[in-house]
Amino acid sequence: MANQKQIPLAVAGLIVIIVVALFFVIKQAMPKRYRPPKVDWTCEACGHQFIAPSVTSPTECPKCGKKEAVRSTYYECEKCGTVFEVYRSKMPPLPASTEGSEDIPPEMMMEMEGLIKKPDGEWVKEMSEEGRKITSELACPECGNNDRKALKYSPPTKK
Ligand SMILES: [Zn+2]
Ligand SMILES: [Zn+2]
Repeated sequence: MANQKQIPLAVAGLIVIIVVALFFVIKQAMPKRYRPPKVDWTCEACGHQFIAPSVTSPTECPKCGKKEAVRSTYYECEKCGTVFEVYRSKMPPLPASTEGSEDIPPEMMMEMEGLIKKPDGEWVKEMSEEGRKITSELACPECGNNDRKALKYSPPTKK
């Protein structure tokens, strides 16, 4: 009698193992969906600051609706705890041929050089001398700390 009960149990166990294995096989075979990380944004038109997935910048501001929201990058000073905005960045306007399309061909993205500026400065090319200065010459506005090791990127959720 004991054997008759054990057999269905073994079958059930085997089915569970097969189902679990199939689940992992199917999961592996499915194309992985890319989920862009969330980043800080600032609308250059109305000043609204918000957190949203990292997409092509400039993007539409959820407050005023203008397509002038750009990426904001914040750093935290580990000496005094101040979180400050270091720079804003965006892609240059697209050539007229791609107007209206949301998806920019990757090869075009590769060729385009981003624009960067200090929060109150002028837009310059990311790889230009002025552009590189913005990302390399960091200093805390509160305590003046400019030790790069004591200044670190501040993720959007921390503010
Ligand atoms: Zn706005
Ligand atoms: Zn500081």
